[in-house]
Amino acid sequence: MTTRLIVFGRQGAGKGTQAVRLAGHYGIPHISTGDMLRGAAADGTELGLKAKVLMDAGDLVPDEVMEGIVVERLAKADAQPGWLLDGYPRTVGQIEAMQRNLGQDFVDLAVNLDVPVDVVTARMLARGREDDTPEAIQRRLDLYEEQTRPLLDFFAQRDQLVEVDGVGTEDDVFERLVKAIDSTLEG
Ligand code: AMP
Repeated sequence: MTTRLIVFGRQGAGKGTQAVRLAGHYGIPHISTGDMLRGAAADGTELGLKAKVLMDAGDLVPDEVMEGIVVERLAKADAQPGWLLDGYPRTVGQIEAMQRNLGQDFVDLAVNLDVPVDVVTARMLARGREDDTPEAIQRRLDLYEEQTRPLLDFFAQRDQLVEVDGVGTEDDVFERLVKAIDSTLEG
């Protein structure tokens, strides 16, 4: 038995916070590609510095670059019982990369944490992260609608998608997520 989860949600939907809690709850590593890229940028690696320019503009890092990072991370010992991916895949190309590297049966469940656009925009401006300029926020929301949201259909068609209402207190949303995930994985 593995627990391989992908968490989707607009930037600012509380996805990061809930993803950390869920990973702890299920005893699997929380793998955030955004955190990994920010770490590489802070370390000043060549990859990190290139990624930082794209991140600051709210643009996506190329699929081939992301593929290398994710394949390497998922190959580590702690990820063998399962993992929770936060921020990956974000494009059709990234789903194809997962299929190529992990096989057709590459995930157990995708979860969409649903929070309306006006709510997330206000939250993102308030969190004041260095890469959260109004332009970058808008760019990320646009890219999410264009490139990432359509991916939900892929998982829905495979009966591997649960939608969870992400509006509410952190604890309420967490409880909703666990209930939805448990009932889907059991069923
Ligand atoms: P996040 O913390 O998930 O919002 O990611 C922050 C930034 O990192 C994004 O705006 C992108 O520039 C970059 N990034 C993170 N994950 C990916 C990904 N799967 N594909 C492309 N770019 C990514």
